[in-house]
Amino acid sequence: MLGIPSNQTNSDSSWKQALAAAITQADQLLAYLELPSTLLLAAQTASQLFPLKVPLGFADRIEKGNIHDPLLLQILPLGAEMIVTPGYTSDPLEEQTKNPLPGLLHKYHGRVLFIVTGTCAVNCRYCFRREFPYQDNNPGSKGWDQALAYIANDSSIEEVILSGGDPLMLSDKPLATLLDKISKICHVKTVRFHTRLPVVLPERITDSLVNLLQASSLQTVMVIHCNHANEIDATVAQALAKLKNAGITLLNQAVLLKGVNDSLETQIALQKKLFANGVLPYYLHLLDKVQGSAHFYVADETAQKLIYEMTQSLPGYLVPKLAREIPGMGSKLTLSL
Ligand code: SF4
Repeated sequence: MLGIPSNQTNSDSSWKQALAAAITQADQLLAYLELPSTLLLAAQTASQLFPLKVPLGFADRIEKGNIHDPLLLQILPLGAEMIVTPGYTSDPLEEQTKNPLPGLLHKYHGRVLFIVTGTCAVNCRYCFRREFPYQDNNPGSKGWDQALAYIANDSSIEEVILSGGDPLMLSDKPLATLLDKISKICHVKTVRFHTRLPVVLPERITDSLVNLLQASSLQTVMVIHCNHANEIDATVAQALAKLKNAGITLLNQAVLLKGVNDSLETQIALQKKLFANGVLPYYLHLLDKVQGSAHFYVADETAQKLIYEMTQSLPGYLVPKLAREIPGMGSKLTLSL
């Protein structure tokens, strides 16, 4: 198991080294995880559609030789991704019609989604933005001023949601600059990060990052993205503790994925482990129907039954809201029983 070397926790370069060491080749992944070479051709072909990428620390949480491992299923390119399924599209949330400026999505009242980078530390096979045209929506730090001017001109916007890609892929310096500029817009009170990095690349949660978040006058919310209890090892627990101790509100959103986390036992274990690490559940998302992800689909009725069973087994505050995003709706659709 890889840890966070204690002498590297302050360095902006340490997490970049971990990122650079991520596995990106199918043959490398199969060898590292002692998986059968019969998976190779499909993995190589599917990764031409959406590249393979997994940090070593995440790969170390996958059971070697287990083709059904719930973490492996999230990152291994499969032949099933190449099956064209009716009802699945390249832009299931029709986001490309909702961006007033490159990088800015204004879908909901009071908040905007700001895409600050197109890159992630991991490529999740079910990602609804796997075909998002980041090249057209990644304004870079030079384009930020235009987006910030849009936010400054709309006093109804109280929250800026930093997304991507993954917003914590930004280095500390541009991130500090961005937070400083946002904090100068008086009607913006809250900055929210939607990030998978505390889970997939906990090395990113350096002391300097925590310090710059803590120094901001903005209320900071971090929605991590953890789908299975096995994703939280000691390195992740340490990263979450640093964020929690800095006063950052930690929430989790997960995607309900067939074969990964669609059992009651798995969901209970996930919610309990998150809570033990200072994270409250927020949303359990139904799959957004992006082309290539149909093998992860869980039917609404099955999902609703699962949530009902969770309410019978967990305190209410540990039961996430079952939600779906519907293009054009003013908020997410919460599915009640
Ligand atoms: S981290 Fe999020 S945005 Fe990045 S590939 Fe995974 S699901 Fe998609």
